[in-house]
Amino acid sequence: KAPILEIKDFNVDYGLGEQSVQAVRDVTLTLHRGEVLGLAGESGSGKSTLAYGITRLLPPPGVISGGSVIYHPPGEDPYDVMALSNAELRKFRWAETSIVFQGAMNSLNPVHKVSTQMLDVIRAHEPQLSAEARLARAHEMLKLVGISSDRMDAYPHQLSGGMRQRVMIGMALVLEPQVVIMDEPTTALDVVMQRQILAQLVELRERLDFSVLFITHDLSLLVEFSDRIAIMYGGRIVEEAKSADLYKDSLHPYSEGLLKSFPALRGPRKELAGIPGSPPDLRGMPSGCAFHPRCPHAFDRCSTEIPVLGVPEARNDPNRQVACWLPGRVPVA
Ligand code: ATP
Ligand code: SF4
Ligand code: MG
Repeated sequence: KAPILEIKDFNVDYGLGEQSVQAVRDVTLTLHRGEVLGLAGESGSGKSTLAYGITRLLPPPGVISGGSVIYHPPGEDPYDVMALSNAELRKFRWAETSIVFQGAMNSLNPVHKVSTQMLDVIRAHEPQLSAEARLARAHEMLKLVGISSDRMDAYPHQLSGGMRQRVMIGMALVLEPQVVIMDEPTTALDVVMQRQILAQLVELRERLDFSVLFITHDLSLLVEFSDRIAIMYGGRIVEEAKSADLYKDSLHPYSEGLLKSFPALRGPRKELAGIPGSPPDLRGMPSGCAFHPRCPHAFDRCSTEIPVLGVPEARNDPNRQVACWLPGRVPVA
């Protein structure tokens, strides 16, 4: 499949100079046209920082300290998002790649009708459209996400939680972007809601043909709905694979631990049973493989050398990448 968004050697720091911490490290990751790519990892692993970095929406003191994000518009020449002017960026953000922020499901403006909020987005980005055309577009999109015409003029508080979610999805899709990034769209605990959102995105994708980067704590959701999964730990991607391969046969000990810690769909959430210890602190990142203090397989090399993400020598499969020093997982040079 052709790439739509190619993240290369991407780095983000918080703060400058000696006080700075490195939140995203050497991330190289490609989103392909039409695919759903899931990004998972414990709290603090850098998922949101990566998402806001690649769309250049990082709040200060976040600083992009290196890397590129090559966007491939269908039928046009690719360009680096990092090199766009502010005006170009504004256009890029809704019309090419839209992003739904962490917890955004509750962020609709309470004092405006949902149709008005959607119209505002269209007006800001496609001012050349006539008022009728804008209205038609808003209504069409709301209908597509399952909001019936008699609810379009409702205020957010008059809609159920599920309907507000669908409005948010509609807002993200209304300018027909090529890429939709959803960063944990509901609270992390709200797995049932996230499941509905992801299911609906997958269904709409069949019709509208966009790509999705879906960020969540919940690996079980991704196993079910995404085409591929990338796992983050301590600011780095530690494994990347097709969902089915990751589920059947994960190669990184951290992925293995995450898979063993599937939260129950009903009942209380378990601790990360598969992984003792807690995620690393950016101010004192462990040497070598950042996972080594928690890894049941750690050996000498793990605490001295950072493993690079690559196709392991023992598997001749370009769709599988892992960053680990265990025998058979070391990448081909
Ligand atoms: P969560 O699952 O909780 O949303 P995440 O994977 O999205 O976590 P980030 O929010 O990207 O993680 O945070 C990555 C790291 O960057 C964390 O260690 C966090 O403490 C740090 N960080 C985030 N924002 C800032 C900030 N404004 N200043 C300093 N450090 C920050
Ligand atoms: Fe564990 Fe070492 Fe592999 Fe890191 S490199 S995951 S510490 S075995
Ligand atoms: Mg986050």
